[in-house]
Amino acid sequence: EPALSQLETDALRNDRFHLIQAAPVAGSIGAEARELITSSEDIFVFDQSGRKLIDGPAGMWCVNVGHRNQALADTLHDQAMSLTYSTPWYTSNAPAEKLAQILAERAPGDLNHVFLTTGGSSAVETAIRLVQFYNNVRGQPQKKLLVSRQGSYHGSTYLTASLNGRPRDHDWMDGASELVRKLTCPNPFHRPANLSVEAFEDFLVDEFRKLIAHEGAGRIAAFVAEPIQASGGVLMSPPNYLKRMRALCAENDILFIADEVVTAFGRLGHIFASEDVFGIQPDMITFAKGVTSGYFPLGGVMVSERLFAELRRSNHPNANFVHGLTYSSHPIGCAVAIRNIELLEDGLLEHAREIGPYFQEQLRTLEELPLVGEVRGAGLMAGIECVADAKAENPFDLDLTVGKRIDFHCQENGLLVRPLINMCVMSPPLTINRSQIDMMTDALRKGIEATA
Ligand code: PLP
Repeated sequence: EPALSQLETDALRNDRFHLIQAAPVAGSIGAEARELITSSEDIFVFDQSGRKLIDGPAGMWCVNVGHRNQALADTLHDQAMSLTYSTPWYTSNAPAEKLAQILAERAPGDLNHVFLTTGGSSAVETAIRLVQFYNNVRGQPQKKLLVSRQGSYHGSTYLTASLNGRPRDHDWMDGASELVRKLTCPNPFHRPANLSVEAFEDFLVDEFRKLIAHEGAGRIAAFVAEPIQASGGVLMSPPNYLKRMRALCAENDILFIADEVVTAFGRLGHIFASEDVFGIQPDMITFAKGVTSGYFPLGGVMVSERLFAELRRSNHPNANFVHGLTYSSHPIGCAVAIRNIELLEDGLLEHAREIGPYFQEQLRTLEELPLVGEVRGAGLMAGIECVADAKAENPFDLDLTVGKRIDFHCQENGLLVRPLINMCVMSPPLTINRSQIDMMTDALRKGIEATA
């Protein structure tokens, strides 16, 4: 069967990648001692020795409005002193109601319902439980398989980690692998040498089509995808890939879940990126991080009106979606999210859209360095991937401490980066200005040169 042989080939390729990734990083700089961060201000953090560092990853893709924002700190305080907490099981609260309304107005298409959680993993986990519930109540209990991609990251709970496509997330771990099928990572930089980007896109879409034919559409519940694979190394897919995958899902009654935990709330210049940047309307969108700019742990899943309507029409009218977290719809988190969205819409989204191209352009100048294989990204997120030597037979066969060593040298030049094996990812607070982007690029250049 062609479908199987293709999948097998990919499995082999990914296995090889796995072996490379799994090599020990013993002796790497900084492996034993972690940087102690003591305070922060706008785009900067300060370490215990008083060093001022640009916060290259904005914490963990999250401090979108910048550190030490007075308005968000006041909101946190005021909400704690007004309504500290109310249970999401039997009551609701005004900030949660208002936030739901705000999100529904901004989400694409008919994504008018939201379930609020405590972060990204719980948002994706909630989405998956909702998908299972949906298929059970509509009499399709066999529709359970989840499709994700190599290179993806969806969380660290049991089920979300099972979706992850980064080999290191599975080392020495079990997972719900019987529920998950993984497709090839859509990153063109690692495509087979004989394929053009267009041919690679065809291959990826075809691979999904073959998987559907092989498993049967009646067994596949959902496709889960980050519009840009963030923690995989800011992996961008070929131009029409997401639209074509979305169409395949619609044709086969497979729900499309866009995991926008990183891409939403300004990182790409919009509240949600699915439609505004990628031209797709998912059935669900998961989000977290930037929704509160990291000032309070909050996430959620937007759910389409269509899905809800089907649930209401279901032949099990008494089925209840019994699912909730103590801190779902937390009033403090919701109040912070509302204020945070106001700040984003009060010029920051516009600023991110305006400055994003400059950020990309400046970072791409690093491609002239021999160690840099590719700089990629969109908006205010970028990945720098190092290679052994552009002319080497296997450019990816390189010292895997390289990301950590770059981080070490960048810190000497005033910049904190997020090292990812042979890559560094950058996603600064959206408040960053042009001269700070220049400082960042300069620190990266010096850090990479010192590493080479
Ligand atoms: N989904 C994506 C795309 C992420 O990048 C992350 C975290 O980095 C998660 C889900 C998990 O979110 P959390 O760490 O808030 O549980």
